[in-house]
Amino acid sequence: MSVRTVVTTCTRDCPNTCGLLATVEGDRLTRLAGDPAHPFIKGKVCRKAMRYIERVYSPERITRPMLRRGDQWEIVSWDTALDLIAGRMHRIRDESGPEAILYYQGFGERTALKLLNKYFFNLFGGVTTMHGTLCGGTGQASQNLDYGERVSHDPLDHLHSASMVLWARNPVTTNISLAPIARDVARRGGRVLLVDPAPTKSASLASRHIAPRPGGDAFLALAAARLILDAGAEDRAFLEQHAEGLDGYLRLVHRWDVAELCRLAGVPVADAEHLAETLMTQKPTSILLGWGLHRHVQAHLTIRAIDALGAVSGNIGVAGGGVSQGFEEYGPYDQHYWGDSLRPPRRTLLMPRVGEEILAATDPPIRMIYVTAANPVCTAPRSDKVAQAFRQAEFVVYSGHFLDDTAALAHVFLPATTFLEEEDVVASYGHNYVGPITPAIAPVGQCKSEFRMFYELAARFDFADQFRKPEAEWLERICAPIRQQGCSLEQLRQGAFRLDAPMVPFADRTFPTPSGRFRLVGDLAEMEAMADALGAADPARPFRLLTIAPHRFICSERTMAEHEPLPEVQCNAAVAASLGLEDGDAVRLHSAEGQAAARLRTREDLRPDILVAERGGWTRAGHDLNRLIKDVASRVGNGTPYYEATVGLEPLPSSCSGSPQASPCRPPQVLVIQHGLHSLGGNFLKHLEQQGCRLHTVRAFEGEALPHTPQDYAALVVMGGPQHAWDDEAWPHIPPLLRLMREFDALGRPVAGVCLGAQLLARAWGGECFAMEALEFGFVQHAVTEAGQVDPVLGPALPLPRLMEFHQDSFRLPPEATLLVRGEACEAQCFRVGRVSYGFQFHLEVDAATVAHWTRLLREGAVETYRQYREQHDEACFETLAAELPVLADRGERFCREIVARWLAQTQTQTQVQAH
Ligand code: SF4
Repeated sequence: MSVRTVVTTCTRDCPNTCGLLATVEGDRLTRLAGDPAHPFIKGKVCRKAMRYIERVYSPERITRPMLRRGDQWEIVSWDTALDLIAGRMHRIRDESGPEAILYYQGFGERTALKLLNKYFFNLFGGVTTMHGTLCGGTGQASQNLDYGERVSHDPLDHLHSASMVLWARNPVTTNISLAPIARDVARRGGRVLLVDPAPTKSASLASRHIAPRPGGDAFLALAAARLILDAGAEDRAFLEQHAEGLDGYLRLVHRWDVAELCRLAGVPVADAEHLAETLMTQKPTSILLGWGLHRHVQAHLTIRAIDALGAVSGNIGVAGGGVSQGFEEYGPYDQHYWGDSLRPPRRTLLMPRVGEEILAATDPPIRMIYVTAANPVCTAPRSDKVAQAFRQAEFVVYSGHFLDDTAALAHVFLPATTFLEEEDVVASYGHNYVGPITPAIAPVGQCKSEFRMFYELAARFDFADQFRKPEAEWLERICAPIRQQGCSLEQLRQGAFRLDAPMVPFADRTFPTPSGRFRLVGDLAEMEAMADALGAADPARPFRLLTIAPHRFICSERTMAEHEPLPEVQCNAAVAASLGLEDGDAVRLHSAEGQAAARLRTREDLRPDILVAERGGWTRAGHDLNRLIKDVASRVGNGTPYYEATVGLEPLPSSCSGSPQASPCRPPQVLVIQHGLHSLGGNFLKHLEQQGCRLHTVRAFEGEALPHTPQDYAALVVMGGPQHAWDDEAWPHIPPLLRLMREFDALGRPVAGVCLGAQLLARAWGGECFAMEALEFGFVQHAVTEAGQVDPVLGPALPLPRLMEFHQDSFRLPPEATLLVRGEACEAQCFRVGRVSYGFQFHLEVDAATVAHWTRLLREGAVETYRQYREQHDEACFETLAAELPVLADRGERFCREIVARWLAQTQTQTQVQAH
């Protein structure tokens, strides 16, 4: 088998923009490693890089174009999809004008060829686009005010720093190549300070963690500046000769004394003293700003106060110093290929308020939305309103990889390649290198690059000739400024090239401001208003919710299967206890905007006034924290003030909280009996947890003992496994389990049996189990009986989707049971028995990853029991299953969610019946 190594660059929404070496064995990508020749990356990449291979080959990845009709997805040809899109675009432009179409271009990937996406829409006539940002625009705008132009120190310049302040920057998670540089500072005896309300993973780099209250950082910066000024240790020459606004700034610094400033910042005075002392005694200090700082309405005041602290402490224009925020990732290209000059300026909508702005757009209304490299329904504030806006649009086109929140609302899904299947060029917002994107593998399935999609779409419009040029030609044009700096595209293919940018910006102490001087912040009235706002706590919602960058994922780049049942929210342990909450409890967060469920994690080292969660989870996977965030924009830079959300915390009321086993404070406990590693409970258990239940799992297949009575439990779930339901000798837990199933039902506590669990349930009620003549495997469409149509659990979940089968045993229905779903190869597919017991022969709980795993087991003959059935299934059957799997799994997941909710709700019904 041939083995190749391909030089390429990571394009994910990450400032590290790593140079990569992709190893390809045969035609399959097997390894992603850092390029040792990259001067910044030096051969190291994050764990997310290796896991990206799983993403490329994920069974959930959509690899064929699809149309949605109702809630059913249908695989179609590219021509069908593109004809439909072009037809709609023509019609909407003719009927309502081009601004009735919104092009939402996200920050998911920012490569050279992506400039042409907007060029395409400008050739079309100019459509409505977005302005503002969900990310770092506020910082850039603020630093533009202070410096005239935001220019950061080259990260390698920090190797000259005597000390470093990670001000809300979390390199261990979000910018890994900075971590060794921070360690180098520490190794040379310098201090590394972390300033962040949350103890992020980068606390491990720091000699001291200073934890201001969210939004209090400006006052910490002023306190440190005041201490430096009081000590007479300021850079007086810089302030007098190269800065403007000194009088106003000094008024600001002296508006409060140090103790008051520290109270406003929410830190002990000792913290401000340590920061000031570091800046005075360990020069030069590099101050690195993180993105959390941007997530406030008045974030510009904070960033400007920190910039000013850099000036006061003598760190501006100094090697090893600086206040660095980021780099312009579209900077090295010929910007004229955005095509903005082709048309008169068109309407733009504000990204932080995208839901509201789409809903409010009237002249003309937004009729069509086209989304690339973004998942706004998940990532923008007021996710509920964004979803409403997308539902209201008559036609939504989504280009991406997975059925995420935005894709789920689209009418057309266009499967996009990943950067490992594309040719392009990418610059960084975290350093000064531009890198090649070289296809390591052929496109998976029928995926196409965004460029190819627009290229083929353009053939359906009268501007085809202007757009339809090969990638290489476009790259030559767009990258002309890079070539002028001395690097041809051919040279770039060999590896990263350092752009012409200073190691130390403003070293000559001149600034591109009108006066040529650095501008010191001096907005006293605004700062006073911010101080007043910090003091106004709402007792019903005492926490600030910080949704920080996840460690395992890039924002919302994940699959359904990768989601925990609920997002985890960290809270100070003592505060949680005072609310009667324990670690692991399901909780409800509520803000003025809405509410969301989460799993509580307590920790001792957290400020009492914050809750910390990771951002990016999908709403449709039960992660809906952006539902809580107000959709407003920051005052400067049109950023998104996610961290303004004040929230309250309380126990999550469960669907079975009315059951006798659930106290008002303690969540109900569900007993889960597992029979094998391949069927642990999947979506069924996830949905139980989302409903507020705690699970007590018993691994019967490993000999764990069953409880003797149902006493402590609100419900019972019995999962599948390879055992025979009649094999009491090999599995002695079966007879007591049958008795337990009856006892739960007698008490009105719901019982669910899945696959083997259904066979055991049938046996518990007198049904007979037997081996079938053949294995039933794959997604099967069954029929609902008349009783099933009106069943209180099954009925509301209908229509019945195709459901996954993987069994060789079956059962005859017990005498008292009612058949709800009938199959052809195996008749008894779903039944109700007793008061509240349900058997599901099909695997309603599976996700795509589980099905892919089972398919592999069968295909490779890995399980002895099923080897004899391998020949029943040919390769074409496996190929078809793989193609349909993402959609079938998605539909099955929604069906399972409905069933679990209704099944669990029986506890309340039974409690009410008992009460009467
Ligand atoms: S996600 Fe970031 S750190 Fe990881 S490989 Fe990509 S650019 Fe590098």
